[in-house]
Amino acid sequence: MSILVSVKGLSRRFDVSKPWLNRVLERLPKAILTAVSDVSFDVEERTVYALVGESGSGKSTIGKMVVGLLQPSEGSVKIGGTDLARETDPAKLDLVRADIQMIFQDPFASLNPRWRVRDIINEPVSARGGDVKGLAERLLEQVGLAAEDAGKFPHEFSGGQRQRICIARALASEPKLIVCDEPTSALDVSVQAQVLNLMSDLKDEFGLTYLFISHDLTVVQHVADRIGVLYLGRLVEEADPDTLFENPRHPYTQMLLAAAPKMDGFGREVEPPKGEIPDPINPPTGCAFHPRCPIAVARCSAERPELRPLGGARVACHLAEA
Ligand code: SF4
Ligand code: MG
Repeated sequence: MSILVSVKGLSRRFDVSKPWLNRVLERLPKAILTAVSDVSFDVEERTVYALVGESGSGKSTIGKMVVGLLQPSEGSVKIGGTDLARETDPAKLDLVRADIQMIFQDPFASLNPRWRVRDIINEPVSARGGDVKGLAERLLEQVGLAAEDAGKFPHEFSGGQRQRICIARALASEPKLIVCDEPTSALDVSVQAQVLNLMSDLKDEFGLTYLFISHDLTVVQHVADRIGVLYLGRLVEEADPDTLFENPRHPYTQMLLAAAPKMDGFGREVEPPKGEIPDPINPPTGCAFHPRCPIAVARCSAERPELRPLGGARVACHLAEA
């Protein structure tokens, strides 16, 4: 299989300083938040790569850089070999952009309330001068709605149906890659499963690749081919779902799994989650997880663990062993 998305050494910093006058009066230094730090991973074509972490882990920031909504501070994102932030040929950029779509958490906020569903779905195609005859109707049926729904407005639909409309709109431009940022977390649990199943089916039918962003490991367990766990902007573990759930090697992954609802035969003994996520402006030294880590040793606060291959996984922990 070939690699569709290649993320290398990706970092993103934000200046979150107070206005200069306040800083002078309060004698504050400039505040730089490192949202993403040296993240590298590949997504193979027609697979699902899930990025998982608590809020503030940098997952949405990575998603925005992958779709080109945000420039990296360092490193690169290549889609099919093209670096969105550095490519200068406008024709090539247009081609690559047309291959990428994004689906957001709140389906209502991302649908124009004054537009009919038909126009919402057709817009990305008509904006490029493409043929939209019967397109919305066809796509609505493909996402489990009715062709007649094309004439309705977003408020006439439930949350799950609205997310189906967002998916139909994303499909309209025949993308290769869909970046999904918490696509089901605003939905009821019963509806979540339906939307996830639909996304899975569409992936096979349309040969799609997903970058799936979630705070919830159990949501991605059954849809992901590969899972990357983020902590404070860094990848701390990456593995396929079976390996990750059966043998989580990073103490943070173990903590996330222990906090997740228990599944059958899921009798591991792990310390319950403790401590808050540290201040990303002044992250802990060494391994950023050390203040919360139940097994931290002296080395952990002094030396940052590199992400290293371990079996079929990659793990950033001094104490992780195969
Ligand atoms: Fe815990 Fe140390 Fe491993 Fe970090 S490097 S996760 S602090 S054991
Ligand atoms: Mg987010």
